Amino acid sequence: MNKYKEALDEIKNIVLDKSGDGYRTAKYLQNFYYSSCETLQELVERATPKKLVTTRHTRRCPSCNRQMSDINNAHPNMKFCPNCGQALDWGIKR
Ligand SMILES: [Zn+2]
Repeated sequence: MNKYKEALDEIKNIVLDKSGDGYRTAKYLQNFYYSSCETLQELVERATPKKLVTTRHTRRCPSCNRQMSDINNAHPNMKFCPNCGQALDWGIKR
């Protein structure tokens, strides 16, 4: 199970209170929500298109630095980095 599914399942379990004890301290909930939000924030950021980093000769993924194209060729149909899954903004109007 990946950490995003884990975070989502934990939230669902808390909402439904499947733990059975029916009682959570405010401090526990505060920590719980903070860490769940942090984990899910990663997903949101990855799904939000980021502009490619352009160097003199290349365009690179803004998250993992993988080369996506050389500077003369754009691949605007490539919406996600095949290496890390980052959503990409080629900055090209169509
Ligand atoms: Zn990447």
